[in-house]
Amino acid sequence: MVSIENRILLFSLCTISATIAFTFLFAASSEERNGMRKWAFALISDSASWLMFALHFESAGTMAMLLLTGAIFLSILALSFKLAAIYEYCDQTSPRWLPALPLAALAINLVFIATGPEWARITFNSLMFAALTLAIALRLKHDPVHEGRRPRLLVTGSQYVIAILLLLRATNAIHGGSLRFPGLSSTVSQSIGFLLMISLSITATMGFILLLKRRSDQEIRSLAMTDVLTGIYNRRAFIQRAEQECALAQRNGIPLALLMIDVDHFKQINDLHGHPIGDKVLLEIATLLGERLRKQDTLARYGGEEFCVLLPGTDETGAVSIAENLRRTISATSFNASAAAISTTISIGISVRAPSHTPFQEDFHCLLSAADAALYQAKHDGRNCIVTVNSLRTTQC
Ligand code: GH3
Ligand code: MG
Ligand code: MG
Repeated sequence: MVSIENRILLFSLCTISATIAFTFLFAASSEERNGMRKWAFALISDSASWLMFALHFESAGTMAMLLLTGAIFLSILALSFKLAAIYEYCDQTSPRWLPALPLAALAINLVFIATGPEWARITFNSLMFAALTLAIALRLKHDPVHEGRRPRLLVTGSQYVIAILLLLRATNAIHGGSLRFPGLSSTVSQSIGFLLMISLSITATMGFILLLKRRSDQEIRSLAMTDVLTGIYNRRAFIQRAEQECALAQRNGIPLALLMIDVDHFKQINDLHGHPIGDKVLLEIATLLGERLRKQDTLARYGGEEFCVLLPGTDETGAVSIAENLRRTISATSFNASAAAISTTISIGISVRAPSHTPFQEDFHCLLSAADAALYQAKHDGRNCIVTVNSLRTTQC
């Protein structure tokens, strides 16, 4: 049978934690607030804690007790850093009591060492470690903002396993089981325990790195889909959504309406008030339009001063009523973009995909060119008005 030297396992645990921590600190930017640096500090505390834990086996008497207490303090510090890292990752501020926790735990440990029975100290520490580990898992589990179910499972799963082991140790201590570690012997059960700790520590850290990667992927994807000026969908995102909505409308046999909106004589606003004021007006228009749409509708800035709206499950009558509401809102608004009140109007072209519509592949492009033709007609009809495709003589699709 192969015997594993447990000293080597413990020192490997120290080295692995320290190496990962220093690579994190080397790579992380100090401006980034994603929890990476705090996780690195947690790993450094972990590493120092395992080192003290290993050394306490090599010492005796007061020195051994001091090293063990130091290891416990550093371990609580590590868990507090991990919890703070998860709060930072979730864009939340960590609880005010968190920085004070390691010192409070140290004080309680010293009181226990001076007065209390050993089983009480071990139970207290095991329960405190378990509570912090569970807090890390639960905080992350309830983060509704970020993607990454599987990486999250790596972090939460490893924390649950650690919490279960700690609760078992607390139960064992309460029931008078063997409390002391038998020293750094090369027993198989101790080797398995240390190997498990190495594996859980790496799993949690890898999970956290993958979560950070998923988050930055999510941010890049969302930037690629968002219009910088107005914060609504851009043309690329709109086309993607429109193709999906067309397929859904086809599958569910429901109508789908498209509004193409163009701000009237927008060039004059730029010429009269300047481009920056024009930008503010565009932003206000986008906000007003968005506020008047339903949750299931999609608003996008299609280009310059043109917006598109997708209205799923909406027939021509419904689309005209929504478009009329938008048109009236804009024409009744006095924009606050500059000292002088600015007013403007919009023209809207509407096309509707009927549930019976057949040409599937070209759906969105047909819908778009039909709405564009209707918008052109609206401009021709004098602007500040609505034209539907059905009212045009030439319909393309
Ligand atoms: P029409 O009623 O025929 O649509 O007239 P218009 O002046 O709105 O149309 P035109 O196509 O002649 O001009 C569009 C203007 O929109 C010109 C362009 O400078 C302005 N524009 C496009 N994008 C932006 C932008 O991001 N910010 C600002 N401030 N202006 C923009
Ligand atoms: Mg225009
Ligand atoms: Mg235009």
